[in-house]
Amino acid sequence: MVALHDKFGRAITDLRISITDRCNYKCVYCRTGNEGALYGDLPFEDYLRMARVLVGMGITKVRLTGGEPLLRKGVVDFVRELAQLRLYVHGSTDASVRGPADEGVRRSTNSEPLDIALTTNGHLLADVAKPLKDAGLTRVTVSMDAVDPDRFTRITRVPGGYDHVLAGIRAARRAGLWPLKVNCVLMRGFNEDQIIPFGMFAREEGVTVRFIEFMPLEEDRVWSPSTVVPLEEILARMAEYRPLVEIPHGRSETARRYRFEDGIGEIGIIAPVSHPFCGHCSRIRITSDGKIRTCLFSVWDHDLHAQMRRGASDEELAEFIRGVVAKKEERHHIGEPDFVPASRTMVHIGG
Ligand code: SAM
Repeated sequence: MVALHDKFGRAITDLRISITDRCNYKCVYCRTGNEGALYGDLPFEDYLRMARVLVGMGITKVRLTGGEPLLRKGVVDFVRELAQLRLYVHGSTDASVRGPADEGVRRSTNSEPLDIALTTNGHLLADVAKPLKDAGLTRVTVSMDAVDPDRFTRITRVPGGYDHVLAGIRAARRAGLWPLKVNCVLMRGFNEDQIIPFGMFAREEGVTVRFIEFMPLEEDRVWSPSTVVPLEEILARMAEYRPLVEIPHGRSETARRYRFEDGIGEIGIIAPVSHPFCGHCSRIRITSDGKIRTCLFSVWDHDLHAQMRRGASDEELAEFIRGVVAKKEERHHIGEPDFVPASRTMVHIGG
């Protein structure tokens, strides 16, 4: 199989699908305090077809995101359907594993199961963690930006969420959704004092806490370089608590990884602002309304769903995707004089 590559030679193996741009939280680094307009979402069967074509083109990892993906009814069944995609093996003569798509689209030659991950705020996770795992979900990442409940409410702007999220994290662990990652966006003035408490949390709960530098993708347009808590500062603060040892990481991994010197607990730092990793980017995204985005900071998107509506075959969809991927941006320009804000904010892209 010829893997999907962009013109800079990067292999595209990682697909993020936003299944709704609705969200039940209004996090300060992401949204305004108001509901705001929505782009809307598609029937699951449309996302499934897109994913099937893309898995046939070399995608090995699908992450469901949003908005808040667990707001969508039917997400467990959707994961179950996605998990079937691993059965599509190039050259199989068994119609039951080939599926109904056009014969012209190459099937994945990867005999490994499709890696299916979920990014969620965790508010609704406790009840569905086990069903999701049983349906074929491989991994879950929970976003949580403070370990102090009051601070958590100040950031999410929704009272009472903290206990739900903690219950969601623990339920995911019990369900075997492991290793479990907790993502914390740091925004100066809101939660940089939570760095050490999160180090303790990582050790106590047995989760990997990953700190993310704040990016200019928020609806309120409050980002400036001074709102970012950079990697070096995070490391320095954590070192005041306990010594860290860096864990060697793969070139395509977005997070730099560290363990505490005594071997208990792991943290990560995702530093797209201070240490960009665009040169190793393997991602494309599909928005909830069926547009392809080749970069978080794209200033345009590409209407895959319009191709489906006009009756394109799977081979034609694949051709469209190849053309779009060829135009993938080389890198983002955060903090540079020529930076142009993305055409959508994070909640309408799918992080
Ligand atoms: N609702 C889900 C959640 O909270 O994880 C999925 C969607 S959310 C947009 C995906 C991720 O994007 C979350 O980890 C969130 O913290 C992160 N995010 C949102 N806005 C961001 C920003 N301006 N900079 C960095 N990360 C951001």
